[in-house]
Amino acid sequence: MARSKCPTCEYHEFEAVPVTTKTGQKFCLIQCVACGTVVGALDEVKITNVIRNAEKKLSKFLENLNRKVGIVCNRKNLDS
Ligand SMILES: [Zn+2]
Repeated sequence: MARSKCPTCEYHEFEAVPVTTKTGQKFCLIQCVACGTVVGALDEVKITNVIRNAEKKLSKFLENLNRKVGIVCNRKNLDS
């Protein structure tokens, strides 16, 4: 995967800055850590979706892991 870089200073670290407009709309600006050039924006709905998707993936992963650990434990019990 190509590394993201700032169009202004070519730095490659970015931060998400939460912003609330006068009308109360919340969103996040993605900006360069070094020079503050804004390279993108996310609205809050999208951020929530991203987090929700990540949570779903994580819980599925943990579920699989638990199942695997369970199988290993059962085998050990059978062996002894
Ligand atoms: Zn920059």
